Amino acid sequence: MIAVGLVIGLAFGLISGALFHILVMQNVALGVFSFLLPVVQPLLAIFVFPANAPLWVLTLLGILYYLLFNVLIFWIFTVLGQRSLVFPALPGRVAETSEQLFLHGFGFGTAATVNMVIWAAFPLPGPVSFTLAIIAVTPALAVIRPIRHNLFYQGILGWMAWVMPVSWLLNAFGFLLALVLGPMGLANYGRGAIRFDATAGVLEIRTPLGGGTTAFSNGNFTVLNGNNPAIAPGDFLGASVSSHEAGHSMDHSAMTGFFTLATVIEEIRVFGGADARAIGQITAESRGAPRATRFYTPIWSP
Ligand SMILES: [Zn+2]
Repeated sequence: MIAVGLVIGLAFGLISGALFHILVMQNVALGVFSFLLPVVQPLLAIFVFPANAPLWVLTLLGILYYLLFNVLIFWIFTVLGQRSLVFPALPGRVAETSEQLFLHGFGFGTAATVNMVIWAAFPLPGPVSFTLAIIAVTPALAVIRPIRHNLFYQGILGWMAWVMPVSWLLNAFGFLLALVLGPMGLANYGRGAIRFDATAGVLEIRTPLGGGTTAFSNGNFTVLNGNNPAIAPGDFLGASVSSHEAGHSMDHSAMTGFFTLATVIEEIRVFGGADARAIGQITAESRGAPRATRFYTPIWSP
């Protein structure tokens, strides 16, 4: 089923890439992908824009529509994936299901072609766009189990998110958070508050936060709550919260931020908040070594 998901994801990513140009960049020049225009034209009717609105209003609405549309599609497959999971009595390995593998394949396919279409039609010198468009298909290789379990491949995936346009949204948000939380972390915990995980291209910030906050991930940025004694930075590839959060970054790179947002929505819908049985959590947990107290599904490690 992961291969079926991949093929459908590859097709969906083409449509999503074309929509990115039209909705986000307000530009219909798709270069070599102009054949996609007749395919997406009928879809455009569902996005309503006010007449004579200034460009910034159109752009903001376009970003909003683009996000809603993509997250909705991912969420439909996430619902099926989450529902299909059967949890053992004790934390540990959760067997993969067809619906879940379909979702991952769909994510790998979407990530591969959405960035390819965006780069190919980006206003850059031809050879640069062409090279980036070729690199963009890397997530599709994750459909092959030994490749997605390979740490060198995972490193390439993680670093790629810095240059792949569909990842910029969550990364921009992560960067803004880092600007605020980074100095707070440094002031409280010294230089050790900020670490860089070169194996995943992820910046980790430990900072004092309130309440029961644990840790969270935004694209290539991890935030750990220094006030929570249960949240200690650990080995980036070990059984640690650091490796778990890098797992979210890996999901974001390999399956786009739409996977991240859709799985968070499903986590809240089904569990009412953070829960270790959420499909997004068990996937992230498989990065590096899973913790003994957590459920994981063998996506990023066996
Ligand atoms: Zn998590």
